[in-house]
Amino acid sequence: MTITFPHMGRMYIPVKALFDDLGVKVVVPPPVSKETLEIGTRLAPEMACLPMKINLGNYIQSMEKGADTIVLTGSCGPCRFGYYGVVEKEILKDNGYDADVVILDAPGREPQVLLNRIRKISGNSSWLKIARAFLQASKVVEQVDEFIDILLKKRPRELNKGETDRVQSKFEKEVLICKGSGETLEFIEEYKEKAAQIPERPGVQPLHIGIVGEIYTLIEPYVNLNIENKLGHLGAEVHRGITVTDWVKTHLSLDMIYKRERKKKLKKAENYLSLCIGGHAWETIAETVHYADMGLDGIIQVLPFGCMPEIVAESIIPTISRDKGVPAMTLTVDELTGEAGYMTRLEAFVDLLSQKKGRVYERS
Ligand code: SF4
Repeated sequence: MTITFPHMGRMYIPVKALFDDLGVKVVVPPPVSKETLEIGTRLAPEMACLPMKINLGNYIQSMEKGADTIVLTGSCGPCRFGYYGVVEKEILKDNGYDADVVILDAPGREPQVLLNRIRKISGNSSWLKIARAFLQASKVVEQVDEFIDILLKKRPRELNKGETDRVQSKFEKEVLICKGSGETLEFIEEYKEKAAQIPERPGVQPLHIGIVGEIYTLIEPYVNLNIENKLGHLGAEVHRGITVTDWVKTHLSLDMIYKRERKKKLKKAENYLSLCIGGHAWETIAETVHYADMGLDGIIQVLPFGCMPEIVAESIIPTISRDKGVPAMTLTVDELTGEAGYMTRLEAFVDLLSQKKGRVYERS
């Protein structure tokens, strides 16, 4: 059994560490590229969600490298994510790809089904070993996000242009050499220190911009056209509305303090949206209110074309923007999004925020 999984931002780091710890062979999908998207666009129905098209491309590219088992998480909806796994399985079969697709659905009324699947992809390891490996992987998730947060703070303040990007890209290439969670955690720690030591220009006061929206679009730089780096270079410190750590703590952990805080944050959305309508639209609205209350300079919603929950959120955000007096903008991405137009919109938004603050923004 050689496992692969969808490429979602830096999720490959904890997932690889998890399977290394379990002693299961794993193929890390190549970084998302034009080719990945082309494969997925060819196989998927035209109106399928962008993340699903990219995931299909990931699977094919990993299978070409020897993967024979695909692991993905499932959901019960209410948006199209509810039948992603099953549809992807059928598409692969119809196109002659012979892979075992293991969908990790929420336990629901048949927890044994989920447990059997976890056992299967763990190479029939003991439950103790599985629990340890998942616990370690969740630590890797948190550490990677903490490292990214340091980079987001450094980028608009860096003294030597491009240094933050260089640290990040070296990290992303070399982390793949690590075997298992122990080595991976040590490596991240080393890079957190390197990132913290990036020299800063004195007295820089960057703009603060929150990015909110559909989780896959927010965490996968290829899909959001590297919005975090672009805004950083435009002189803005980026605050992320949702991270992999949030997803893990919400769905897989028993961290009650986090859950209580999350509940409080969702309550902030009650005047605008008070229930889950699929995807992360509820979180998008709650984070928008939260960022406005925090006094951020602006908020950007990023969503994939045709994403139903985020379209609902998009229709609500202008009301929050008006009520709270915070500028907000929405960016929709799909396979035809052009970099130049996207960049122009980001620059115009940053210009507007700078003027509102009555100062010229300082690009790094
Ligand atoms: S959240 Fe949006 S992009 Fe994701 S599956 Fe649902 S509709 Fe598609």
